[in-house]
Amino acid sequence: MGGVPPFRHSRSKVRRRRSQLGLEKKNITVCPNCKGPVLSHRTCPTCKTLVKKMRTKKS
Ligand SMILES: [Zn+2]
Repeated sequence: MGGVPPFRHSRSKVRRRRSQLGLEKKNITVCPNCKGPVLSHRTCPTCKTLVKKMRTKKS
């Protein structure tokens, strides 16, 4: 049996926690096969080819 939280979280507390969830960078690269936008290290949604991560130069 899990513990029961003593108090309900307020709306701002929930939102402050949720605000940290979507912070990761989306590494969007271009598919070499169909030139569409793909997330790196994932297969292309249109042509199903694996797209490797492209290194971005830091200035
Ligand atoms: Zn593609």
